Amino acid sequence: MTVSLGLPTIPRRLAEGETAAAGGALPPRPGSDSAPGLLDRFGRTATDLRVSLTDRCNLRCTYCMPADGLPWLPKDQALSADEIVRLVSVGVRDLGVRQVRFTGGEPLLRADLVDIVRRVAALEPRPDISLTTNAIGLAQRARALADAGLDRINVSLDSLHAETFETLTRRPFLDKVLAGVDAAAAAGLTPIKINAVLLPGVNDHEAADLLAWSLDRGHELRFIEQMPLDADRTWHRASFVTADDIRGRLAERFVLSPHAAPRDGAPAERFDAVGLGAESHLVGTVGIIASVSEPFCGDCRRTRLTAEGGVRSCLFGDAETGLRDPLRAGASDAELADLWRGAMWAKPASHGIDRDDFVQPVRTMSAIGG
Ligand code: SAM
Ligand code: SF4
Ligand code: SF4
Repeated sequence: MTVSLGLPTIPRRLAEGETAAAGGALPPRPGSDSAPGLLDRFGRTATDLRVSLTDRCNLRCTYCMPADGLPWLPKDQALSADEIVRLVSVGVRDLGVRQVRFTGGEPLLRADLVDIVRRVAALEPRPDISLTTNAIGLAQRARALADAGLDRINVSLDSLHAETFETLTRRPFLDKVLAGVDAAAAAGLTPIKINAVLLPGVNDHEAADLLAWSLDRGHELRFIEQMPLDADRTWHRASFVTADDIRGRLAERFVLSPHAAPRDGAPAERFDAVGLGAESHLVGTVGIIASVSEPFCGDCRRTRLTAEGGVRSCLFGDAETGLRDPLRAGASDAELADLWRGAMWAKPASHGIDRDDFVQPVRTMSAIGG
């Protein structure tokens, strides 16, 4: 298969031999007065912040974590709730961040999650606050999260069959996840988004079942193409399930047509879906995040903060700018903001997965914050 780069508009001429993804020498960054937001050298501005609250997880999804887990970050190296709120407030107040998504690892593993959400919801201007979770333990905390100001939730669910779920996650917890989804709906965290990654020969035959299940409950399903971000390095260019494969699977039971609303920088391409025959009562939308086969790097608006306080400008760039140590050493908000701006200025043009010299990042999805 071929994959395309989805390059952003490049506001300067690249020197001969210089590749956009590699970047080459950085052009000078504008001063913070003239470019207050998180601008990069290709003209994109990041307004969507993903905050990894922990690198730990209670599942071991095969496309993300190894069976034995990873060496977890010692507690004193992870950001405290106060440090997270301080950095998010710098992002929101000084750097134009408008959406904050808490992720991980598994964010529900943090005992102080509700407190963090409440404090971020009190920031001015108030950001849109969402959570990506595997939903284990959500049944007990959905109401408190909604009351604290959580606006939206994405639950990862790759299979509706207990055995397949266990094969994929290496844990027998499908019931807990389903209970978490129901509790989130009861708490009004709607519409719930369901994230599903399909693996060839494991759960790709469940694509239409997952859509029928989601539409029946009023949830919005989004398929995410598997990316080379797993610890076991099992991703293969020739065999991952592509957006095309997914559309083909869905077309067996649904009519899909492009959704009218503009994409507006969202990673998912949305389709209106209507069930065929006896399933014609199933109506709604479905999204496909084709990060590999139909990349959208040209319109990327994301900036990431790892659990130990590193700014990561791109999922696929190994470069990180640590904010934790300067923060602990007494840096001012203005100094932290400037470090963050510098990190984003160096953001690569694209992930470059289709290049022959592509090298998988050292960190896995769970350690970066998906
Ligand atoms: N533990 C939470 C969860 O699973 O929802 C949050 C963190 S997880 C890293 C965030 C998202 O990344 C999940 O929807 C998961 O399916 C996705 N993900 C993890 N590894 C991936 C990979 N190699 N390719 C594509 N998506 C991946
Ligand atoms: Fe944990 Fe989420 Fe990774 Fe699965 S995808 S192992 S739930 S961090
Ligand atoms: Fe592309 Fe990196 Fe943005 Fe992902 S984070 S869309 S790989 S630029």
